[in-house]
Amino acid sequence: MSDFAGKNILVLGGSRGIGKAIVQRFAAGGGQVAFTYAGSAEAAAALAAETGSEAIRTDSADRDAVIATVAGRGPLDVLVVNAGVAMIGDPLTFDPDAVDRMIDINVRGPYHAAVEAARHMTGPGRIIVIGSVNGDRMPFAGGAAYALTKSAVQGMVRGLARDFGDRGITVNAIQPGPTDSDMNPADGPMAEAMHGFMAIKRHAHASEVAELTAFVAGPHGAMITGSFQTIDGGFGA
Ligand code: NDP
Repeated sequence: MSDFAGKNILVLGGSRGIGKAIVQRFAAGGGQVAFTYAGSAEAAAALAAETGSEAIRTDSADRDAVIATVAGRGPLDVLVVNAGVAMIGDPLTFDPDAVDRMIDINVRGPYHAAVEAARHMTGPGRIIVIGSVNGDRMPFAGGAAYALTKSAVQGMVRGLARDFGDRGITVNAIQPGPTDSDMNPADGPMAEAMHGFMAIKRHAHASEVAELTAFVAGPHGAMITGSFQTIDGGFGA
């Protein structure tokens, strides 16, 4: 596979889970890949060694650090903003600071990263944010704040697609449903309830989400923009 040969690619939040699979996919495609992480230094170093990519510590809640990291990579061909956190539970018990930090990571980080990437892109670039089917549908209690962040991604994608379209830059969201990761293990306590909402009753593999991401980022994705590509086993159907 050499579909990303010579491409300058940055994945925000690449040390584990879906982001890790995305890093592996782009590296397998010959891309020159860098990725960020916040807490998982060991996992990040192992992935960098495995894939020949570069790991950069950048907290996605730190706006200026995100902007500096994106700018520091020069003209990107592909930016994927995967870094995200999920708070699911009774909103009456949430620490408001933790909710605001989730909004910083899931919404403000992607927005500032996308704009900074577009500022430096010189060709037909690709900007992809990993949203969630919960941007469309929140079928259980306790997910309001998380769903808020993923719906916000949709508005951002629609608008930025129009802002940058005349430069051939596409802006899209990939919207996974339940996907096996530390955030949402396939054998976790919520799994059975989630499968109940799905037509195909299993968690997705992170590699399946990565493959869709690669399609949107690749040469066949030039006319896909302002869109939400859902990969959820029918969770939202
Ligand atoms: P994981 O918790 O398994 O991995 C999260 C990744 O994001 C890690 O690499 C983590 O790095 C990074 N990250 C988290 N916070 C920060 C931060 N502040 N700064 C930089 N990096 C950060 O999650 P998933 O792989 O499951 O989720 C990835 C994305 O997919 C998220 O946006 C999530 O909302 C979305 N999603 C996931 C679904 C699922 O079922 N798994 C379903 C729908 C959407 P580190 O460990 O180094 O901090």
